[in-house]
Amino acid sequence: MKKIELEEAYEKLGIEKKVYDYCSHIESSLKDRFEKIDVVAEYNQQKVLKAMMDARIDSECFNISSGYGYDDIGREKIEKCYSMTFHGEDALVRPQITCGTHAIALAMFSNLRPGDELLSPVGKPYDTLDEVIGIRPSMGSLAEYKVSYRQVDLKADGSFDYDGIKNAVNEKTKLVTIQRSKGYAVRPTLSVEKIGELISFIRKLKKDVIIMVDNCYGEFVETREPLDVGADMIVGSLIKNPGGGLASSGGYIVGKKECIENASYRLTSPGLGKEVGASLGQNRSILQGFFLAPTVTAAAEKGAILAASIYESLGFSCLPKADEERHDIIQEITLKSPENLIAFCQGIQSGSPVDSYVAPEPWDMPGYDDKVIMAAGAFIQGSSIELSADGPLREPYAVYMQGGLTYPSAKAGIYMSLQNLYSRNLVRL
Ligand SMILES: *Cc1c(COP(=O)(O)O)cnc(C)c1O
Repeated sequence: MKKIELEEAYEKLGIEKKVYDYCSHIESSLKDRFEKIDVVAEYNQQKVLKAMMDARIDSECFNISSGYGYDDIGREKIEKCYSMTFHGEDALVRPQITCGTHAIALAMFSNLRPGDELLSPVGKPYDTLDEVIGIRPSMGSLAEYKVSYRQVDLKADGSFDYDGIKNAVNEKTKLVTIQRSKGYAVRPTLSVEKIGELISFIRKLKKDVIIMVDNCYGEFVETREPLDVGADMIVGSLIKNPGGGLASSGGYIVGKKECIENASYRLTSPGLGKEVGASLGQNRSILQGFFLAPTVTAAAEKGAILAASIYESLGFSCLPKADEERHDIIQEITLKSPENLIAFCQGIQSGSPVDSYVAPEPWDMPGYDDKVIMAAGAFIQGSSIELSADGPLREPYAVYMQGGLTYPSAKAGIYMSLQNLYSRNLVRL
């Protein structure tokens, strides 16, 4: 195909030649990095493929179970695929786990008992966990069940506070939670290697403590996962990386047999555990999404790098920086003004396959002090493996962008965001 034809395709989306040329020039400098990401995706693809072969996935797996969901072969084989891919002894992968927060809460509540203590050695966990743990007083929190909580913040340079951790681990410490991705906090995302170092340190202090990793946004970004470096449990959401954009809903926990058994008794009921839970027709999309997840994650990662490279070149600071090594798919861009933030999000939305004709506006979201703007033209509500962007309307007007089921579609959304800023005279190219 001639280059000019490709340009025309973008022109039809409403992207001017000036914007196209500016972005394409930057994109052409990213080839080597993209190649490295492709190699990671290739490795992870073969890992998933092998698990699917070994689990003997067949068309019977796609059958729909109802009621109690006894003998749901597909559900059982999905859980095998997850445990073999991520190197756990067992797994719980269910559409009944409603989201990432639910999966994390499930892992915590089921593996802690009254009198135990939970420790986060990497600072404050993701916002939604405040009420789970009881950091913010809340009905049904771990605190209400007499599970205490301790936290050791990262040092100013983002490194682990080993002395603080040593002081915090005590005879009550039962479960340690490590959040891999920075989420929406300002701290570096932890590499699997770093997580491994932290785990070794904690094991030396207390051998039998349960170590769980909130794996959200990190799956398939590297060739290793936290269970490979000594974690007991990893936990995540199916509407992020491992669902590959196809799983309609769900969460997972993979790890030690005993931890998963505990979780199963809380998800369903003591005595019933993993034996029940109708898959309600979700098995095929969960499996097919898992099959696609390594390349979908790679596409999202490339999109993040492209966005950082374009916006950094225009003088906006990015976290991670454009040329930094990545350990998750989230990109923060500091847009410096409310006009820029709104234009960016409206651009992302207008480049989406769903709801492209609506323009998101800042709104008062429950639980937030400032107005928030969110762009999400997704097939699945709230799916953040699909291209999405959001940010609070306050200094420094940072936007958090993530996802993109295919690289070309992520690219279109990013180009549209810049087109929007350019059309509104907010940037000069
Ligand atoms: C997304 C996310 C969660 C859970 O969020 P849900 O919206 O409940 O799925 C937890 N931790 C991190 C780091 C996340 O990114």
